[in-house]
Amino acid sequence: MLTSVVGINWGDEGKGRMVDLLSRDYEIVVRYQGGNNAGHTVVCGNRKFVMNLLPSGILRNGTVNILAPGMVIDLEHINKEIEAIEKAGVQITPDNLVLSSRATICLPFHSLLDGLEEDRLGSRKFGSTRRGISPAYADKYMKKSLRMIDLLYPGDLEKKVEELAEWKNLTIEKGYGAEAVDAENILRWLDRFGKPLIPYIKDTTAILSQAAAEGKSILFEAQLGALRDIDFGIYPYTSASSTLAAYAPLGAGIPFARLDQTIGIMKAYSSCVGEGPFTVELFGKEGDRLREAGAEYGAATGRPRRVGPFDAVASRYGVRMQGCDCLALTKLDVLSYLEIIPVCTAYEINGKRTEQFPVSIEDLFAAKPVYEYYPGFGVDISSCRSYGELPKESQNYIRRLEELVSCPIRYVSVGAERDACIEIV
Ligand code: GDP
Ligand code: MG
Repeated sequence: MLTSVVGINWGDEGKGRMVDLLSRDYEIVVRYQGGNNAGHTVVCGNRKFVMNLLPSGILRNGTVNILAPGMVIDLEHINKEIEAIEKAGVQITPDNLVLSSRATICLPFHSLLDGLEEDRLGSRKFGSTRRGISPAYADKYMKKSLRMIDLLYPGDLEKKVEELAEWKNLTIEKGYGAEAVDAENILRWLDRFGKPLIPYIKDTTAILSQAAAEGKSILFEAQLGALRDIDFGIYPYTSASSTLAAYAPLGAGIPFARLDQTIGIMKAYSSCVGEGPFTVELFGKEGDRLREAGAEYGAATGRPRRVGPFDAVASRYGVRMQGCDCLALTKLDVLSYLEIIPVCTAYEINGKRTEQFPVSIEDLFAAKPVYEYYPGFGVDISSCRSYGELPKESQNYIRRLEELVSCPIRYVSVGAERDACIEIV
């Protein structure tokens, strides 16, 4: 079984939480795009883990976790993440963690450039995590990147790094007027943080194609959501990679494989980190109340997230672009405090009503939400463990969302803990 687990919205839908739960049925979990700008939170027992690069299957005994060719890997960060998770008692070995030799290395000058550009933009900034993800992908497509495989050929690194530094300093020193980067420093960084990773670096294409041929179950974990996809999201307020399920086999390094199933992770309300259009945004007390109820603070950065009611226009588009077979609706418990639950069912753009998600960023900035209202659940639903236990109002809310996005909801998450999930059978 080859399953992709992807985000329907702007990210932070609870993918990590669902991947951790679903990974019980999978032998391999693969992160196939993005970098350490991800923040996937998994609550296991009374401990909370935030994964930036590591796949969310890492807490399961016997699960093989792969960082695939489509990713950009910050070597310093992955070392720290391994160290932190080992401190928490999870053993990391080349048996449960594999790093693709084809993955791109995210270098210190990438985060430097990310920050320099955000600072230059000032109030026009993108709200980047400043972790260098866009600059690293840009260099990949410029064909001026180092890949993990380069760490296995240290003899050739010096020349490659000198050329990279010479090229980068045209931008860093001569463009931004910042202090030039030094090839020696980069080489030292590669040596310090690259060497410990060598036992983990493998041709993951060979591993995954063999696993697929043997009929092993593979789960592909996406970062962010459909609306942040580089081609089909709210460009330019997107991520730099493809967050879609269709990219999973490619980013994972097995382009010939076919997915059996795509599970979309969709939040019961909306949240968004960073700048850009966000039609349903709530401000003031209403926003604060929802942010507090949902503990909406960035897992990677700690930034307060922008929040709002469920957006059916954006979510329907997300479900369609992901090609979902079914959905997991997350954080439904968070809405328990509301007496009336608004749902955005259409946008009004310059006086015209539409149910289509606009392509133009200007239209998106101009869009006003059109709301329908539903009765609140009346009680705390976080201890419900079956569909039948859910109050009728919450069942109706689930059914209405299914209708609005035209896709069945198979899982309903009512808490961050592993077992706080209802499977609708
Ligand atoms: P991801 O980036 O999609 O993996 O999501 P994040 O981890 O960034 O954000 C989701 C947050 O909500 C995390 O803090 C989770 O622990 C938490 N969470 C996930 N599912 C639920 C849920 O059903 N209810 C509640 N209350 N919290 C949840
Ligand atoms: Mg997150």
